[in-house]
Amino acid sequence: MPSEEDMDRCEVCADQLATTIPSGGFDGIHQDCPRCGEFQLTETASSIMRQALGTDRRALLSGWVRSQNRLGSVPMITSENLKTILAAPLPSVVDQSNALLKEAALGLKRGLAIPLTLMSQSF
Ligand SMILES: [Zn+2]
Repeated sequence: MPSEEDMDRCEVCADQLATTIPSGGFDGIHQDCPRCGEFQLTETASSIMRQALGTDRRALLSGWVRSQNRLGSVPMITSENLKTILAAPLPSVVDQSNALLKEAALGLKRGLAIPLTLMSQSF
């Protein structure tokens, strides 16, 4: 039984190295990212994300995973809920500022950095 941790690029933010957790039976990917948190991802969702996700959308998805983790659940990203999550409007600058403040406060506990992608947005 393999016990060593397997590190792969995070499927959500494509920036951090995430721990890949053996999914046992589940036909998909289970990762724990230092930035996004813990999530599961189906193969279909994974292939959509590799083709179609820019930094803005990845930041949105990363924020969604973090909020699910905060609620105590490990979210499963499927091709279906991926559409719903990505259909949400990008947060306004004010909302982003508030979110950053919240993230900063929580980040002190978890050692998370403020997402750099938010700083590079042009609006
Ligand atoms: Zn990540």
